Amino acid sequence: MAKIGLIRCERNATRCPLTGCLTCIQETRQGFLGYDRAELIGIFTCACPGEHLSGYAKILEKKGADAIHLSTCTFAHKAEGRWVMGNGLCAQPEEVMKKLAAAVSIPCIMGSAHLPDGYCPEVF
Ligand code: SF4
Repeated sequence: MAKIGLIRCERNATRCPLTGCLTCIQETRQGFLGYDRAELIGIFTCACPGEHLSGYAKILEKKGADAIHLSTCTFAHKAEGRWVMGNGLCAQPEEVMKKLAAAVSIPCIMGSAHLPDGYCPEVF
């Protein structure tokens, strides 16, 4: 059972209850396809400009996370009913990933639910 820590963006915090992310974790689909079974062990909401990310990552690791995922809406957007790369909520998703990965020794993975076609979740 893989224990998943999730980081979402504050820009979506009042609009998205993370239903897609939670369902994909439960069903090990999309960004969680690589796990036999997965369970969510914690969520943090990133606040601009992401100064607390290192602390969030460390806490999730301490709580037992095997991996930390960043929600797809940070780096992709919806157009004509499909999710496509770019123009997500965050102007610097790679920097977010680098901050997370630098703080912990577990994989930090860019992507959760509704991955854009052809995108393979990048591991930092
Ligand atoms: S740094 Fe990016 S992911 Fe974090 S709150 Fe700001 S826009 Fe969202």
